[in-house]
Parts: sequence; C-alpha cells; structure tokens
Amino acid sequence: MGWSLGYDPNWKRDVGYGVPAICDDPTCDAEIDRGLSYVCGGEPYGGEDGCGLHFCGNHLWHNKEGQQVCWRCRTGRKPYEPKPDTHEWLEWKLTDPSWAEWRKADPEEVRKIEAALEATPLPSPAQGGK
Ligand SMILES: [Zn+2]
Ligand SMILES: [Zn+2]
Repeated sequence: MGWSLGYDPNWKRDVGYGVPAICDDPTCDAEIDRGLSYVCGGEPYGGEDGCGLHFCGNHLWHNKEGQQVCWRCRTGRKPYEPKPDTHEWLEWKLTDPSWAEWRKADPEEVRKIEAALEATPLPSPAQGGK
C-alpha cells in the first residue's frame, strides 16, 4: 500500500503501518499499528464513515456499507478520545536517523516530545498472553 507513514491532520498524530500504537478503545491495551488494517472507516483518516482512530480486531465492527468501524461510529456517537503516541514511537522519532531531518526542521516539536516523555510514566511492560 505504500502508506507506512503519514500525518493525520484531524487527530494531529502520525499514522500508517509504520507507527506502533495501542488500540484506541479505552478499555483495551492491544498493540497494533496505525495502518489501514486497524483504522476505523477502512481508509486513511477514516474516510467517509469512520473517525480515523485505530482499533484492534476485537474493537472493529462492520457497518451496513461493509466498512470496518469502531463501536462509537457504528452506533453513531462521538468518537473516543484518541490515545497518546506510544513511548516506543516517540523515542523512535527522537533517535532514529530517518527522522534526523525532521528533528532539525522542527526543534520545537522535538522539545515537546522530550517533555511528554519525561512527564508520563513508562507504560507497564507489554502483557503476554490473553
Ligand atoms: Zn470510529
Ligand atoms: Zn482493542
């Protein structure tokens, strides 16, 4: 698909299958990515039908049109609160050579990420099993 990395201007966060993430369902901590397999609406940024948040397979349903959507969109309610980026992803942006240009171009955003990493406690280690 060639959509490994993009930016969602609506939710103001990085999207694409190259971005590790946690299911946006508030009760869920499944590890997913922000690729099209997990997006509510089945299209970049959610398309016509979805909110564009990202959910694991347990939290996506099909609507009448056959699109994968989250429970909120399926029932016609306001979207969930988006979850913050994972530490894994933020640290990647701060350290990976492929982001060096970006860091140079946007030092303010880099400082914001550093502050966010300091302010939030490390998430508990990934749970094994179900
Ligand atoms: Zn949705
Ligand atoms: Zn989930």
